[in-house]
Amino acid sequence: MAGAEYALQDDEIAALSSIYPGHVDIESVDSVKGCHIIGLSIPVDLPSATPTVLTSVAQSPTSTSAAASLEIAHLPSLSARVLLPSGYPSNTPPRIVSLRARIPKHDGPGGWLSNRMLSKVQERLAAMWTSEQEAAGEGVGVLWAWFDWVSSSQFLHDLGLVSNGILRLPTPPALTTSMYLLLLKANDAAATRSDFEGAAHPCAICFGDRKGRSCVQLPACGCVFCHSCLHGFWALAIQEGSLTNVACPSVDCVKARAARPVEHAAAVFDDKRSDGITAAVVESVVGKELVKRWHTLSAKRLIETDPLYTFCPHERCQAPVPPPTDPEPREVQQAEAVRKVIRLDIGKSEVPSSKSSSHEDTLSVASRWDNFRQCPRCEMAFCILCRATWHGVHAGCSIKDAEKAVREYLDADEEQREAIRARLGPRNTDALMALVRDHELHQLLQEWAKANASACPGCKSIIEKSEGCNHMTCDHCRTHFCYRCGAAVGLSIIEQCR
Ligand SMILES: [Zn+2]
Ligand SMILES: [Zn+2]
Ligand SMILES: [Zn+2]
Ligand SMILES: [Zn+2]
Ligand SMILES: [Zn+2]
Ligand SMILES: [Zn+2]
Repeated sequence: MAGAEYALQDDEIAALSSIYPGHVDIESVDSVKGCHIIGLSIPVDLPSATPTVLTSVAQSPTSTSAAASLEIAHLPSLSARVLLPSGYPSNTPPRIVSLRARIPKHDGPGGWLSNRMLSKVQERLAAMWTSEQEAAGEGVGVLWAWFDWVSSSQFLHDLGLVSNGILRLPTPPALTTSMYLLLLKANDAAATRSDFEGAAHPCAICFGDRKGRSCVQLPACGCVFCHSCLHGFWALAIQEGSLTNVACPSVDCVKARAARPVEHAAAVFDDKRSDGITAAVVESVVGKELVKRWHTLSAKRLIETDPLYTFCPHERCQAPVPPPTDPEPREVQQAEAVRKVIRLDIGKSEVPSSKSSSHEDTLSVASRWDNFRQCPRCEMAFCILCRATWHGVHAGCSIKDAEKAVREYLDADEEQREAIRARLGPRNTDALMALVRDHELHQLLQEWAKANASACPGCKSIIEKSEGCNHMTCDHCRTHFCYRCGAAVGLSIIEQCR
């Protein structure tokens, strides 16, 4: 007799496992006594996204004001440890050893149902064996009915937690309402994902049915593609440089897109596309290498469509930086910058500026304001030309930073140079070219000076020697110096140096 019951238990567990894979766990068996101890994890699925109100402990249970509200389609599973005794299913009811309503990712005490609620659930589950025996006949297991009652969320109605279509959950004493809200949302998202991954979906490209775990669902439109189809489509689009195709390829979505105005190219960089396709989504489909190319192409497209854009020079930011739009704050910034410069000038008014700018004449103070940008993401203020931290309009680019920009340009290959020119826009490209010419001229001058001239020790002007005598007098500052050793000297010494 015990053998037959034991076999029925085995059958019921196997059938349940095949419908709810991963939800039934055999913890131990005793084939001599003919019993099982099993762990059940019973999912709690609401029929659709259900408005849910979280009440706080401070409120009375009948209070109608909500502490927080959300919409959820899944609640955390109920987990039960159950002994199926040797007389089960025909003669003895199953015994629930423990019943818990754990909140995933919350290690503290207390579950999403109070102990009082859990005892009610346990009573109902225990009573179901008797009613099932009466309704379906002896030898029929009750575990199906348990899963049915809990996972259909009927039990929430029976517990009185749902009224007028609204689910009301008291916040457990160990949690704040906002923390509880986050935990329930995270659980709902994880359950939705695992539902999606477990189910089969038709791909909108190849029309084949695929399990969700090898599919991609696009965020806003919800269209589903098998990963390999979408990868093929987007990878080709990126390789061919047709960025508009890195979007949903389903017929309806392509039509809808064609009817809408084209989105600003900067939306790509701030993950603000209306179709919700972020850099992370693109990377998850095409991988690290191609997402880099997608980024480069998107940057190029942004500069082409809106040449006044540039990119933040901060290594870890690199956000697109729009041209200043509001003249008001710019005037304020200008006034502040001017005040700062004046203070600096007063502070070291006796010290002549050692930071002379080699392109002082190529940029007037007014046009230097065009080089001011502030990154909307990291708030770094910088010069679009030398890409250093903003140096104020009167200082100009420091030689060091200007040289860095020039060297970056000279060391670049033609493709990189094109990217730099695109980044700067036509006006600043002209300014950079002037710097490059200055730089090349400076190099030539240095070489020529080494061979044919000497620098005045007083003002550093280059003086070409024109007569046989080593005694030089600087045209600029009238310093007397020796051409051969470069020292500023009195006339008598020069006579000795001949
Ligand atoms: Zn497909
Ligand atoms: Zn779509
Ligand atoms: Zn930035
Ligand atoms: Zn600069
Ligand atoms: Zn001089
Ligand atoms: Zn000398």
